[in-house]
Amino acid sequence: MGISFLSLLYIQTRYFQETLHLRKEQFDENVKRALWLVAHRLETDEAKAYLQQDIAQNNEGALSPTDTLGFWPRNLMSLPGNASAQLSLQYAGKERSDFQKRQSEILQKYIHNKKLFEEVIYSSLYIDDKKPLEDRLKSLDGYLRDELQHSGINIENLHYHYLVSDFEGDTVSICPDYNERGMQNSYEQALFTNYPIEQAATLYIHFPQLQKYLLSNVQFLIPAILFTLFLLIVFIYTIYIIFRQKKLSEMKNDFINNMTHEFKTPISTISLAAQMLGDNSLMKSPAMFQRVSHTIGEETKRLRFQVEKVLQMSMFDEKGGTFKMEELDIHSIITGVVDSFKLKVSSIGGSLDIDLQAEHFFVFGDEIHLTNLIFNLLENAVKYREDSRQLMLRIATTNKGSDIIITISDNGIGIKSEDAKRIFEKFYRSHTGNRHDVKGFGLGLAYVKKVVVSHHGHISVDSELGKGSSFIISLPLIKE
Ligand code: ATP
Ligand code: MG
Repeated sequence: MGISFLSLLYIQTRYFQETLHLRKEQFDENVKRALWLVAHRLETDEAKAYLQQDIAQNNEGALSPTDTLGFWPRNLMSLPGNASAQLSLQYAGKERSDFQKRQSEILQKYIHNKKLFEEVIYSSLYIDDKKPLEDRLKSLDGYLRDELQHSGINIENLHYHYLVSDFEGDTVSICPDYNERGMQNSYEQALFTNYPIEQAATLYIHFPQLQKYLLSNVQFLIPAILFTLFLLIVFIYTIYIIFRQKKLSEMKNDFINNMTHEFKTPISTISLAAQMLGDNSLMKSPAMFQRVSHTIGEETKRLRFQVEKVLQMSMFDEKGGTFKMEELDIHSIITGVVDSFKLKVSSIGGSLDIDLQAEHFFVFGDEIHLTNLIFNLLENAVKYREDSRQLMLRIATTNKGSDIIITISDNGIGIKSEDAKRIFEKFYRSHTGNRHDVKGFGLGLAYVKKVVVSHHGHISVDSELGKGSSFIISLPLIKE
């Protein structure tokens, strides 16, 4: 799908380029034709002027109605004597209007033939026309406008600048608002090509906004590309979601596996104890009853604790947690948890120090959640300890601004920096380290984070793999 999307995008871009190219060619063609027509018109003008001059010379004094024959072109006058006489005779007696009509017809024919003749002459003969170039270019501006418009170029939207240079390259004519921008794309047209070289000229024209003009011609293709691009982005986003979902489902699988394991151990211990009590072949001393009931009690406690953890989290997800907010002494909460935890730490040969430096330690919060919070962090520190060294746990508090900062540090296995970013996510567990045997739900820190955020606090972790970790919590104090 990705490949076909990219191909589609590629094809569309190519199509866009092709169309642009085609439009450019079309435009070039139009401009060239317009320029050629301008050149042709200028030359024709000159030819006409020449012709008119010639006719005027021929007609000098000839059009007086009384002296009709003086008007006739020379070849007509040199008709055989009798034909000429016949003609004059023919008209001498007829009405004048008829005669004049015939006269103008012959004149028209003459002009036409002469023009044809002149065209041949122009291309082969030297025309000694001393008329300056500037004079010959008088109609250039109008012609250019005319012909460009006729070629289908919208000159209202597309400005053009032109200049004419003579055979030495000197500028002889230039448009009033001439501007050099866009000159690299100029079109040129030779003018008066049939003239002697020193009377010829070259017309240069360029369009400063040509690129924009061409693009505006293919604008209709842009939405197609945009839509494809949009589809591609949505596609990539979908893929991203699918991958995230896949990861999530893997994490949930892990969670279920872990949960089964966590629940199975106490359940099998309890059922074993029940079996023992029910077995008639076993002697049951009061001491044994005591031991078995203690085991059942311990295991049930463990089971309840686990269930509580999962329940707490799902409750949080549903209702955002229920809090019984009251004024709390953080220090007394910490010492309460530490008292019950110290035994556990010393039983594995570790130490637990407290260093409560904060002068202000009253916060507005929920006692049970805050106790759980400290408990979860201490539990992690014990769970992820480094076996090769003695566990050293430390809880410290200080004040910073209007907050109390609680730091819980250990010298355990530490957390990789890429894991550190994610351990507060639900179900996330770091798979590295040599602690594969340690089970958990990946819920502890997610819960901790939720509690902290609900108390308008902030939590971060500072850890180095193999050295240890510090969890830093800041909670806002009650304003006095
Ligand atoms: P649960 O607490 O729900 O029983 P858990 O301990 O695996 O399971 P969290 O408490 O959320 O889940 O911890 C997430 C992960 O963070 C752990 O799997 C562990 O890899 C890492 N971690 C947490 N605390 C520490 C610590 N003190 N030292 C090293 N790694 C830690
Ligand atoms: Mg934990």
